[in-house]
Amino acid sequence: MEFEAKDYEVRAGLLTDRIILITGATDGIGRALALRTAELGARVVLHGRNTKRLEKVYDEIEAIDGAVRPSIAVLDLATADSDAYTSLANSIEQEFGRLDGLVHNAGILGNRHSIEQYDPAEWQQVMHVNLTAPFALTQVLFPALKKSRNPSLIFTSSGVGRVGKAFWGAYSVSKFGTEALSQILSNENRHSGMRVNCINPGAVRTKMRLAAYPAEDRDVLKGPEDILAAYLYLLGPDSEEITGQSLDAQ
Ligand code: NDP
Repeated sequence: MEFEAKDYEVRAGLLTDRIILITGATDGIGRALALRTAELGARVVLHGRNTKRLEKVYDEIEAIDGAVRPSIAVLDLATADSDAYTSLANSIEQEFGRLDGLVHNAGILGNRHSIEQYDPAEWQQVMHVNLTAPFALTQVLFPALKKSRNPSLIFTSSGVGRVGKAFWGAYSVSKFGTEALSQILSNENRHSGMRVNCINPGAVRTKMRLAAYPAEDRDVLKGPEDILAAYLYLLGPDSEEITGQSLDAQ
């Protein structure tokens, strides 16, 4: 049966004992997901590039009744070198011994120019943060993911990761690449119990959406906390057989 976000009933304790790393957990969808997964019993590793902003989310989780204390992983996806990735992976292995969920959520929009006008340096940066960094992070976290009984990886796609719309440039190409990376990983690990899926969040009221559509009426958009069902489904036990899919969060 096909997954329908609106029909999925999230139950208390759904993610108890799951260790889940969420990239870009300081704002928007990543922050909302971090709060919700912690509320559902997960031990969340909050990733971001800014310690102060990470500490703010950390404090918000600490204030949730019964939530497990989170951890913080600081790494700038635009500039991190291989030592920084290795040190992040080592600290997860040392602290937890495994990783059950990895949500590649962090991303940047870049400028909305035609391909003819697109600045090559900006192209590289968007491709790096949105596509190359998730590849590098996945690779370095493989040993910890393999130690989980049921590891789940989630990549974040977009409507423009499925249709190449005018003026979406590197962002769109990076999201097409994300869909491919997710499918390849899924197929390569189908028999190991590791599952890999994509989510297209749809239009969500965040700072990225505001940058893309500055004139839009924000009140008609769903908030990040309203679109989390697909993420929670894929991170928890109800989706144990699901891999290689690209789900719509709305
Ligand atoms: P936001 O801009 O609200 O949040 C982006 C997050 O990524 C922030 O935590 C940000 O950190 C982090 N980030 C950006 N660059 C880096 C970097 N170099 N290193 C580490 N972290 C970084 O975006 P959304 O919540 O809207 O988007 C989340 C995901 O959903 C993205 O992948 C986006 O492409 C996708 N998406 C969003 C849609 C929407 O309508 N909102 C629609 C379709 C897809 P910081 O706080 O430091 O800036």
